[in-house]
Amino acid sequence: MIEGYAVDAFAKMLGGRFIQKSFDETLRYLVTDSRHFQARKGSVFFAISGLQHNGHRYLKDAYQKGIRNFVISQPEFLSDLPDSNVFEVSDTLAALQNLAAAHRSRFIYPVIGVTGSNGKTIVKEWLAQLLGDQYNIVRSPKSYNSQIGVPLSVWRMQSTHTLGIIEAGISLPGEMDKLEKVIRPTIGIFTNIGPAHQENFADLHQKTVEKLHLFAKAEVLIYCKDQKIVHEEATRLFGENQTKLLSWSKTTSADLAISREKKSATATKLGGTFQNIQRIIEIPFTDAASVENACHCWLTLLYLGLCDDDISRRMKSLIPVAMRLEQLSGINGCVIVNDVYNSDFASLEIALEHLQKHRKNKKSVIILSDILQSGESPEVLYGRVSDLIRYAGVDRFIGIGPDLRAQAGLFEKTPSTFYPNTEAFLDVFRKDHFREENILIKGARPFAFERISERLEEKTHETILHIDLTRMKSNLNFVRSQLEANTRLMVMVKAFAYGSGSYEIARFLELNRADYLAVAYADEGVELRQSGIELPILVLNPEISSYDAMIRYRLEPQIFSFRTLHLFLEAVGKSAFEGEYPVHIKINTGMNRLGFNPDEMTLLAERLNETDRLHVVSVFSHLAASENPDFDGPTTRQIEIFRKLTSYLGEQLSYSFLRHILNSNGILRHPEAQFDMVRLGIALHGLSSDVNSQKRLEPVSRLTSTISQLREIKRGESVGYSPKKTYAASARIAILPVGYADGLPRFLGNGAGKVWIAGKRAPFAGNICMDMCMVDVTGIDCAEGDEVEIFGDNLSIVELANDLQTIPYEILTNISQRVKRVFHQE
Ligand SMILES: *Cc1c(COP(=O)(O)O)cnc(C)c1O
Repeated sequence: MIEGYAVDAFAKMLGGRFIQKSFDETLRYLVTDSRHFQARKGSVFFAISGLQHNGHRYLKDAYQKGIRNFVISQPEFLSDLPDSNVFEVSDTLAALQNLAAAHRSRFIYPVIGVTGSNGKTIVKEWLAQLLGDQYNIVRSPKSYNSQIGVPLSVWRMQSTHTLGIIEAGISLPGEMDKLEKVIRPTIGIFTNIGPAHQENFADLHQKTVEKLHLFAKAEVLIYCKDQKIVHEEATRLFGENQTKLLSWSKTTSADLAISREKKSATATKLGGTFQNIQRIIEIPFTDAASVENACHCWLTLLYLGLCDDDISRRMKSLIPVAMRLEQLSGINGCVIVNDVYNSDFASLEIALEHLQKHRKNKKSVIILSDILQSGESPEVLYGRVSDLIRYAGVDRFIGIGPDLRAQAGLFEKTPSTFYPNTEAFLDVFRKDHFREENILIKGARPFAFERISERLEEKTHETILHIDLTRMKSNLNFVRSQLEANTRLMVMVKAFAYGSGSYEIARFLELNRADYLAVAYADEGVELRQSGIELPILVLNPEISSYDAMIRYRLEPQIFSFRTLHLFLEAVGKSAFEGEYPVHIKINTGMNRLGFNPDEMTLLAERLNETDRLHVVSVFSHLAASENPDFDGPTTRQIEIFRKLTSYLGEQLSYSFLRHILNSNGILRHPEAQFDMVRLGIALHGLSSDVNSQKRLEPVSRLTSTISQLREIKRGESVGYSPKKTYAASARIAILPVGYADGLPRFLGNGAGKVWIAGKRAPFAGNICMDMCMVDVTGIDCAEGDEVEIFGDNLSIVELANDLQTIPYEILTNISQRVKRVFHQE
């Protein structure tokens, strides 16, 4: 929990005064945007006024949402804020910065300040990757580098951290001096200087000097000497002064002189001299920007005294940093990709690429605001935008803002509409204007596009299953690292991809080059095909009634008996399909579920050889207890039987086929039995029974809900349907909009399970209802609207499964389709 400050101390730090003091409280959370916060105790709303909006207009909104502490500069709004603490300051933004500066001054651990035109966020994120083992790091979230973002980032600093990494960006002269006071970096990094945000500066020299102000009090400045302007101005400004200069260069003498750069297909090797010692690193990137970013990081690590072995080991495993895009289900079957943090051209390119990649078979619409502070003339800038959207095949363009509207002529080739501002768009907004489309929403902050995305989002109640695709990718990579080079990967997307969402996960797997998908029923496969999935798909439970549909949609059945073999052959014979239809033969090696028995192999081989209408793509079996060391004996026997039977079939058939027997825990615990392919399931979702593997996997799903209401109950009262008990003392009860119809097992009621609220476990109170449940939050500091975790990073699904005497699979696949799925991806 954030440490926070008492209201009086807070007033002092702000440089303001109370105009209304109603109660004492510890103030912990800063809110600058009334649309995006959860009203928690200890939240303070800053009414910040900018060019495009006046934050005082949102005071009422913040008040209604439960905030009771306010920083304002227009005292006439006081009457809207009864029973609150209200601080008056002359400038709310300056007060926010004063507050953060005072907070910052309490900590003596090093703070790395990063600025420059490009690469700031990547350098920040890479340093966090490289130094994460060694330090407890606090860093700017996303690219929070503005006059508001920096104080909010610095506010996250706590005494438990040991290193800060804060990013700073400016667009006007004079701004960096303010950020310097807030960040007070001890170590500075200047990435490079380029034309971004140029419009308010006389020339590059002036902008460089402005940016260098960030390092006025730093002990050291790390930069690239090949950036001539940066070098000249840094020497001029800091030559005599306390800030020591530490540079790297590829062309001239420098503290780190890089003399070798060798690129292979996927990596770059760099050799250089630092303090008279030759050193080498290798990074898994080859582009120039990554090399430059890596050199900044390298010199920083050397300055911090890391040894070469540590440096080169960590550099090798750097991973790319991408931006965070949020993908949601929208009204009328639309999919919304929300990118509200960036509005520059480069991020538009990335977002469009994402949109194209992630949804096939749907038309796409982009809703874009004016791009602010590009430094380019509108004709040039929007000409590029128009080219880009045409190139990306966008079907419909909606431009919002005066600049875009003025350039409407540039967009003639794409069906387009324009609005002067967000309000004007919302005035004519109708839900039926959007149907079965991919919608990219991308707007600069002042345009408040959240208001648009709120209207487009599918309204469901406030229980959400969050799926983190970045973690899923890392799980996939880990599993791949356990496979032999030639082993193929089939991934199970049955049962709605273990509850996560069939299409989204299938598409993710297609993009990440899985070789095969498997579903339980034909209709699951048909749906994937209809939404454009092209990977081969195995159907595990092919029902006889679905054979025709399977053949039409190129779905490949598992054949597990002579009866199904015969019937499927018949279906192929009657269909329009010509040639040999791909099938998969399931054999029973001991689990005694579906499959041909070992004594049926001779006849099976005969039958398969008789027909020229089927092609056996693979022969497989399933392990009964791959996860359990107690069964390693029987597991090994199953594997041996499988080896024998497949080698017999191999001799009998005139062509070769793939063999596979391992599921997730099989892959992780019996890697010697990979044969030609493996079948990944639960480990993709970050779960394994193998302790060492579990350390490398990250659970991808989080189920959350929110508190709809809080109530106090008195001694002798009870909660819910047919209560089992009356309360011996008064208690506080929270009501959550999630019940057994959402997949929350009724078994958890009456204290058998718990949820996570505000850092504590809260037991279920009374019976779980169909659409709601109650939890006992006595003694827990929480408020209506607060998020509640049912399972996730704090309360693991494994713990929940243990409470339920079941396995995580059952919990995941029982989460009802009415629970909204939100996919997160870096
Ligand atoms: C579900 C399933 C798998 C995947 O199992 P996990 O334990 O989730 O990895 C593999 N093979 C078959 C036949 C399955 O039905």
